[in-house]
Amino acid sequence: MTPDTRVNQLQKRQEINVLGQMMNMELTVNSLIDHAARYHGDAEIVSIGTDGNPSRSDWATVSERSRQLASALRTAGYVQGDRCATICWNNVGHLECYLGISGGGMVCHTINPRLFPEQLVYVINNAQDKVIFFDKTFLPIVSNIRDRLETVEKFVLMSEPDEEIAVQFPGLLFYEEFLQRGTPNANWPEIAENQASSLCYTSGTTGNPKGVLYSHRSTVLHALVAAQPDALNLSARDVVMPVVPMFHVNAWGVPYITAMVGAKLVLPGPGLDGQSLVKLIDSESVTIALGVPTIWQGLLSALDELGSSAQSLKRTVIGGSACPPSMMSEFRGKYGVEVVHAWGMTETSPIGTVNALLSKHNTLSEEGRNKIRESQGRPPYGVQLKIVGEDGHQLPEDGIAQGNLRIRGHWVVADYFGVEPNQTLEEDGWFETGDVASINDDGFMTIRDRSKDIIKSGGEWISTVELEGIAMGHSAINEAAVVAASHDKWDERPILLAVKIPDANITEEELLAHYQGKVAKWQIPDRAIFVEGLPRNATGKVLKNKLRSEYGEVLVNKPAS
Ligand code: AMP
Repeated sequence: MTPDTRVNQLQKRQEINVLGQMMNMELTVNSLIDHAARYHGDAEIVSIGTDGNPSRSDWATVSERSRQLASALRTAGYVQGDRCATICWNNVGHLECYLGISGGGMVCHTINPRLFPEQLVYVINNAQDKVIFFDKTFLPIVSNIRDRLETVEKFVLMSEPDEEIAVQFPGLLFYEEFLQRGTPNANWPEIAENQASSLCYTSGTTGNPKGVLYSHRSTVLHALVAAQPDALNLSARDVVMPVVPMFHVNAWGVPYITAMVGAKLVLPGPGLDGQSLVKLIDSESVTIALGVPTIWQGLLSALDELGSSAQSLKRTVIGGSACPPSMMSEFRGKYGVEVVHAWGMTETSPIGTVNALLSKHNTLSEEGRNKIRESQGRPPYGVQLKIVGEDGHQLPEDGIAQGNLRIRGHWVVADYFGVEPNQTLEEDGWFETGDVASINDDGFMTIRDRSKDIIKSGGEWISTVELEGIAMGHSAINEAAVVAASHDKWDERPILLAVKIPDANITEEELLAHYQGKVAKWQIPDRAIFVEGLPRNATGKVLKNKLRSEYGEVLVNKPAS
């Protein structure tokens, strides 16, 4: 087709095109809080403070105060697009910052306090944050790095004025005072839906963290879809407790989703130990809680210790790393709690897949259904997945082929923050997740490994995720990680690093025998080594590169098996 004909065709299409005649309203974060305030104003927000004491607010009050915060920031001279950071626990002040900063058109940069000081300095300078709101717990961290922060003009402690602290930290502002500089219930500014609303950095194990800049539109679309029955299934009748931190991928979108549906929100603050969580679930009648597997392990032990049956709890959403099958069966079998397994990344807002059964699974046995529940689930409307081989060619979705997992969708990163455009996506326009997965013909996706962690033994791939899940199923084991160790004959062989539950008695041979019949013989780890604990990164993921450098040579010079 010559260029001329193409132009003619396009003109013709425009002439015959009929535009829709519906209202066009921007999809913005402040529209969520406005809805919550108007239609669910009295739904409660329960929050545990840094001192461990609970406080009660509601969506109407949070709306009032977040509007006031946006106005205070404007009064202080901040304009749309300015980055304002938070270093806070899951609490109501943090929620007000989420909504007030983004609702005011500024960008809410949530910072993970578990980053190393150098990484904290890097992300704050890279984001060019102008204000930092932080909880009292993090005063030492902020004091320690203050001199190295290049752009921060205001440090705001999330509390009432405190003379003693003010003396220690010259120039410190106090949230309750800062808020008074704004007008209560001030109008929101006009915001375009493609403007940035929040910023979160990945906690990469190598290199500097990378910034993912979410837009108002991506955040609202993500919330709309995440609330659906086959996703997180949240409603105004739910009491939702996000244990996943608000400094990690916007607590999986929970603050926005709960505002959209008007649920009661329970924010657990710093007390993330099992006993504190059980008490909160029982006292606030939590119906759904969300978090990573390690948190739920503590919770399960605490249920036992406290003799609680978590009566109100209907569902837990588990993601961030693979949920061991044994954990699913304990929740379901012992407490009647449904486990919803989900997968996602900072780069995907985070929801990429959620596990929900299909009606055709009704005819399966309970065991058959449980097997399906173990997978990371299917993409909701709005994201697409595929697996590709090393050459980038798409692999079959037969549940067997495994390849590099790629994703695209409305809430998937297009470019990392501050990086030259067009450097982030693959040539086909998809985002390479760094995960190795298989997808079955119904679209259920199973994560086999991170591509850099998978073990290649004699040319065959061994999934460390599967081997870890089996180890975790042993009653004597608390935590498990499988890594590759160099091997003279097979190049790499799996070895298991396991943490026993306190006082458990188990030998290496007994633990390895536990694999018999569960995987092919050649996949069974060569060694099981008991360790005191596993090294983890700022988001709680096991640092396998550290384990590999420590234990990677334990099989060298061993006779071939
Ligand atoms: P982050 O960006 O820190 O949230 O980490 C994202 C990574 O966590 C993913 O690429 C996966 O490797 C891992 N991940 C998240 N959810 C799951 C899950 N349900 N099962 C296995 N791995 C997961």
